[in-house]
Amino acid sequence: MTEKINPLDILHKYYREAPVNLNGIANDFGIAVMYADLGNNVSGAIKKDSVFGGSAGYLIIVNDKHHPNRQRFTLAHEIAHFILHKDFIGDGIKDDALYRSNLSNALERQADKLGADMLMPWRLVNKLRIEYNNDTDKIAEKLQVSKEALRILLS
Ligand SMILES: [Zn+2]
Repeated sequence: MTEKINPLDILHKYYREAPVNLNGIANDFGIAVMYADLGNNVSGAIKKDSVFGGSAGYLIIVNDKHHPNRQRFTLAHEIAHFILHKDFIGDGIKDDALYRSNLSNALERQADKLGADMLMPWRLVNKLRIEYNNDTDKIAEKLQVSKEALRILLS
């Protein structure tokens, strides 16, 4: 991956199909993804890793003890940190169970927002609303997100 790539070009390529292929996005950005038991109070982390990192030299670790939908939220959140906060990653960002880290709450909210956009791209959500006659349970299932997350988006 060259550094000239526009992140939106990568994201939009994946925003057409549900569920959004987050591992594909991570791979396109040169980020490797691992799943591990991180204990109760850690959702996930992103760090530089010259051994296990992807072509960009970064590794995301997702807590595999959490619900699969939550693991997707974590992965999207950590990818968002890479896209938005690469310069702040330093020795690594570790997100606790409430997605708080050594970064400010404002930065965490940015990662939440872009992460939600990755899980539930607006145009894709609208497409599914038409396809499934506004059945939010079905749409949440298709996107592999929690019903609650979709309801918040649509509220
Ligand atoms: Zn975070």
